[in-house]
Amino acid sequence: MNALFPAPTRLILATRNVHKVGELRAILGAAGLDVDLVGADAYPEIPDVAETGVTFAENALLKAHALARATGHAAVADDSGLCVEVLGGAPGIFSARWAGRHGDDKANLELLLAQLSDIAPPDRRAHFTCAAALALPDGTERVVEGRLRGTLRFAPVGTHGFGYDPILQPDGYDITCAELTPDQKNAISHRGEAFRGLVPIVRELLS
Ligand code: IMP
Repeated sequence: MNALFPAPTRLILATRNVHKVGELRAILGAAGLDVDLVGADAYPEIPDVAETGVTFAENALLKAHALARATGHAAVADDSGLCVEVLGGAPGIFSARWAGRHGDDKANLELLLAQLSDIAPPDRRAHFTCAAALALPDGTERVVEGRLRGTLRFAPVGTHGFGYDPILQPDGYDITCAELTPDQKNAISHRGEAFRGLVPIVRELLS
């Protein structure tokens, strides 16, 4: 390390998804924050944490604290899902395994559409939620949340994105999230909003 040009503070994002790392790096960079952001892939020896929390925030905090403790560096983790109003917020934290098998996007989406088949558009309100948590090795923690609100369609439309994107029509649009380009989606997404909410926290705690 050079005293005149100290190395930027390392921040680890608890994901193996390079797109999520790129999205947060771009947001921190645009805010002028000099942070060495890496994904969990930089620490392959550290196992993934079981998501045993009952809220998005709890799960994000579990993952961020585990990574911060194991590495000795600040860590960020996010947890997200789809919350349907008429279902009392479900699938919620169960979004990735709603039909029983983790990550079966098609089965999850089809089960949800079947459950809502008799529900008319005014009652098909839903939102994606994302909780983003930052934890330091000393136990300091912060959580921010972002939301993308909209209405659920009766059938999937669009080929971009993943998960429930083909059935959520964001407010102010007449297309689904799966018809938005990745840049359009990032600009309005729950994750984008949560990641942007981390900017003042990173500035306060890391710079
Ligand atoms: P994760 O927390 O990013 O792993 O997301 C958990 C689950 O929530 C995913 O498997 C999807 O089913 C759903 N989900 C979260 N964010 C989105 C999104 O932006 N579009 C579609 N589905 C999402």
